[in-house]
Amino acid sequence: MPTVPAGNQAVECYRTGGQRRLPDFCPQVESTVNRAVASGHAHPAGPVYLDCNATTPIEPAVLAEMLRVWAEEPGNAGSRTHEYGLRAKKAVQKAREQVASVVCAKPDEALFTSGATESNNIAILGLERRGTQTGRRHVVSTAIEHKAVLEPLEQLEKRGFEVTLVYPGESGAVTADAVSKALRPDTLLVSVMQANNETGIRQPVAEIARLLEDHDAYFHVDAAQGFGKDLEPLRKDRIDLISVSSHKIFGPVGVGCLIARRRGFHKAPLEPIAFGGGQERGLRHGTLPVPLIVGLGLAAELAERNHAARRERCMEIRSAALNALTPLGIKLHGDQTHVLPHVLNFSVDGVDAEALMVTLKDLIAVSNGSACTSQNYKPSHVLQAMGLTETTAAGAIRASWCHMTPDIDWTAVSNRIATLT
Ligand code: PLP
Repeated sequence: MPTVPAGNQAVECYRTGGQRRLPDFCPQVESTVNRAVASGHAHPAGPVYLDCNATTPIEPAVLAEMLRVWAEEPGNAGSRTHEYGLRAKKAVQKAREQVASVVCAKPDEALFTSGATESNNIAILGLERRGTQTGRRHVVSTAIEHKAVLEPLEQLEKRGFEVTLVYPGESGAVTADAVSKALRPDTLLVSVMQANNETGIRQPVAEIARLLEDHDAYFHVDAAQGFGKDLEPLRKDRIDLISVSSHKIFGPVGVGCLIARRRGFHKAPLEPIAFGGGQERGLRHGTLPVPLIVGLGLAAELAERNHAARRERCMEIRSAALNALTPLGIKLHGDQTHVLPHVLNFSVDGVDAEALMVTLKDLIAVSNGSACTSQNYKPSHVLQAMGLTETTAAGAIRASWCHMTPDIDWTAVSNRIATLT
């Protein structure tokens, strides 16, 4: 091990009780970590951050561990000639175990990527050759997928595939039956998200997995919003491919994972979509970002371990929000019996989302849909697919919080909204 410089400060890790050592070469780093440890919140002076579905704040224990690796471990996980490389490889292997454990997969089934977007692209476009070779060129998906699924599907269509999109009703969830009815003998792939990023509505992926038992189609789940939060559905071993995003589970942005499970001796015959040094079993080439992967691994472990406590805190926030907002007659979008407890997508009759966000901007930071589409002001394709009118969809805002979210003055929020009605 490298010698730790003298005078290091030990940082008490947020809610883990563990001690992590940080090198003392940079006092700003130490104060940043301490601030995060103390507040659990990036900007305690600003509005409360309620956009966790866009990206989550970093878990301070994860930040501390990544900084340690950055500072102390220079090795490339592909270097075989010295102990630094071996240690980096070992750290990556540990992260594989941590991520795979969340969905009861095997460590070698977890491949690191740059995020869920890349994982989705590999899962979808990586099957193109198999489809072309076998004449199975049909894909079933849903109209409420993230663009990171819909866009690669459009690419497949341009290359001669047919895509059937299943629509949800007002509930915001497709039914497993509708997905099953869309299947054809030539269906190569079924791709359904675990939970919708805009509404938080859980999709019936476990039930779909069951209905697919008698079909050959590969089953891909974009689990960017549910991984580590809703554990059981992803543990169904009929799900072949799972996309994971680190920055939705309190890990660093810029890293993710594709879990490619074996079904018996068979696994999805994926082909790479970019080429290089042969990393990640030749499926995702490029030098592994070891500190980010270590961060994702620890974030996944903490998500699995603290899952129940985090959920409970999110439910507490939800009850407080609903107690204050229900008297305003807000309309909640999607079936609230199937919603993740940290998401509230709602509108106020006759009030535009922009006006709502501006009025609330010193109290809470919320969004009007997915971060990737919120710049172009098009009404949400998700809410429209649920049958909401363009006007209602244009009025919808999404609040999404997490276990680190501090208490919110919902009465102040409600009073402020009341001034617009
Ligand atoms: N899929 C869903 C459902 C998402 O919500 C997101 C991010 O918002 C993504 C994919 C893209 O994930 P990443 O930012 O890791 O590429």
